[in-house]
Order: sequence, then structure tokens, then C-alpha cells
Amino acid sequence: MQASKKSKKKKKATSLKQSKKQSVSYVCFVCHEKEEIPLSVVRDFDLMDDGDPTTPPMFSCEKCGGKMYPEYYKGVHGVEYKLSDVL
Ligand SMILES: [Zn+2]
Repeated sequence: MQASKKSKKKKKATSLKQSKKQSVSYVCFVCHEKEEIPLSVVRDFDLMDDGDPTTPPMFSCEKCGGKMYPEYYKGVHGVEYKLSDVL
């Protein structure tokens, strides 16, 4: 006789009370695909990547695998990155 059922308790913390969702627009160098990346994700990358402060956290394009550059992003070290600066 089996009467042991595991009851899964899922608690989701949905306390997103931010009025505006912050994200960074990334543009692919190759195919110019645009992608919105949540600021928290970009920040995480920025913090992990402690190498070159002149290079922003980069992502790969989902379509072509090319490098994506932020349209505008101010890094955790106060460095500003602009797509217009590298084009
Ligand atoms: Zn691309």
C-alpha cells in the first residue's frame, strides 16, 4: 500500500513592484538584430567579468552568433558604453 504523496509547495516570489522594467538594448554587429537584456543580467555579467573595463559585457546573437554591443549601458564601475562610440 502506497500512501505517500509528496506535496510540492511552490512559492514564487512575485514582488516585482518596479514601475519601469529596466533593460539594456543590445545590437548585433553582424545582422543588427536587437535584443532587450534585463539590466540585472547585464550587471551580473559585468561583475563577473572583471577584466577589461573598456569592454562592456558582451552577448552572442541568437540568430547569427555574432557579437552584440549595448546601445547604451553604464557599467558598474561607472564606465559608459555606447554603440555609437564603436561604429
Ligand atoms: Zn546577429
